Amino acid sequence: MSSPGANTQLQTRFRGEVIDASHPAYDSARKVYNGMIDRRPRLIVRCVDAADVIAAVNYARESGLKPAIRGGGHNGAGLGVCEDGLVIDLSRMRGVHVDPAARTIRVEGGATWGDVDHAGHAFGLAVPSGTISTTGVGGLTLGGGVGHLSRKYGLTVDNLLAVDIVLADGSLVTASADKNQDLYWAVRGGGGNFGVVTSFLFRAHPVHTVLAGPTLWPIEQTAEVLRHYSEFLPAAPEDINGFFAVLTVPPVPQFPSHLHLKKTCGVVWCCLGPAEKAEKETAPMRSFGKPVFEHFGSMPFPAVQSMFDPLYPPGLQWYWKGDFVKEIPDEALALHARHAAALPTPLSSMHLYPIDGAAHRPRSSDMAFHFRDANWASVIVGVDPDPRNNDRIIEWARKYWDDLHPYSAGGSYVNFMMEEGQERIKATYRDNYGRLAAIKQKYDPGNFFCVNQNIRPAA
Ligand SMILES: Cc1cc2nc3c(=O)[nH]c(=O)nc-3n(C[C@H](O)[C@H](O)[C@H](O)COP(=O)(O)OP(=O)(O)OC[C@H]3O[C@@H](n4cnc5c(N)ncnc54)[C@H](O)[C@@H]3O)c2cc1C
Repeated sequence: MSSPGANTQLQTRFRGEVIDASHPAYDSARKVYNGMIDRRPRLIVRCVDAADVIAAVNYARESGLKPAIRGGGHNGAGLGVCEDGLVIDLSRMRGVHVDPAARTIRVEGGATWGDVDHAGHAFGLAVPSGTISTTGVGGLTLGGGVGHLSRKYGLTVDNLLAVDIVLADGSLVTASADKNQDLYWAVRGGGGNFGVVTSFLFRAHPVHTVLAGPTLWPIEQTAEVLRHYSEFLPAAPEDINGFFAVLTVPPVPQFPSHLHLKKTCGVVWCCLGPAEKAEKETAPMRSFGKPVFEHFGSMPFPAVQSMFDPLYPPGLQWYWKGDFVKEIPDEALALHARHAAALPTPLSSMHLYPIDGAAHRPRSSDMAFHFRDANWASVIVGVDPDPRNNDRIIEWARKYWDDLHPYSAGGSYVNFMMEEGQERIKATYRDNYGRLAAIKQKYDPGNFFCVNQNIRPAA
């Protein structure tokens, strides 16, 4: 337990800010992206460099405070903050350095994907990430990283070359294909279980302008459209990426007013290569039935990555559940159609993110992320600004998930989980769990880093 005056002790070995409950910034500093999360940590330390992270880890260990690691603060379960512990807040560590000759990008542990997209775009380079630019590099990467470039260039972890990481004993080590290989294996999917990553080194790819945007159909056609999509997408060239979504059309000028607040299903495209080729290759899907809306055009990659940012500002109430999905049988199509028609609020949604193509090439044993035989990572998301609707969004997401889960491949992408217990975590890592537990025992035998989808140290 920390003693009185302990904050002063910490401040003397620390360059960033130390925030406790008496600090005027305390309430804003403890907030995370999900407005449903309301936790009161003992201290929040805003690190400015690796030395600060080392000081914070040592201080938490010496004073018996549980640490939570905050990258972008986007975790649905709110794992970037904890009750009565010490938050190691990396939001001041957002530096990005691009090496265009080597085609690599080095990123500090608290950067967001918007930081990386911006820096890389100037050199025509991008790292596969997610679909919203305000998401943190830290949490997304360490869990796997599923997004617009997954089919062509793999998951984010498939492009992670090295990390600098502060371990539970306060030492900073590098993990890569040459150094601490076991740790390198574990951080590629094992989340924040092994330490605080102060710096990520990524392989980047030539991505500049892409052909992107949504094609939407009426919600009543969900089953037919999803059947066609589930046959079309896995057979499409890897340059073609499109995630399936059920959504309510937002009342914004980008959509015709007669569609505002109408429930729809659709595909959100992000295609690489020449525009004419992408148009031709997506035509069999885009011309299916009678779409009610389409915006399919060339845009800079960072614009695609930030397309949904204004729709989902921080502070909304979020509840989600996910599964890995191999195929979508007729029974599942009917259930999707039923739950899609019952979307409980305008911001609630269901997404199926493709993880085939290049994401299928690594073997399940190559790194902690296991599910290399699934075609999609699904997420059912209940979202609303008003906490009074929490019961509705939670009930809808749970019921939808309960009904669809029997048709899934099992497990869930850890970044689409709430706190769902050890069985779900084990189902996610499958055969890799034992090795992860052994590596956890080696690097963090006391389970110091436990505010995460926790891997328990092997006995
Ligand atoms: C709107 C929205 C859209 C999303 N879209 C996608 C998507 O398209 N694809 C996708 O793959 N995921 C997506 N996600 C899920 C996202 O990957 C997770 O929520 C992830 O945990 C967010 O990372 P963060 O750093 O922002 O989170 P935080 O809440 O800051 O951290 C979450 C956990 O990650 C770990 N962590 C974070 N940074 C570090 C670090 N530097 N070192 C060690 N551990 C660290 C810690 O264990 C921490 O508890 C989305 C989330 C939201 C809210």
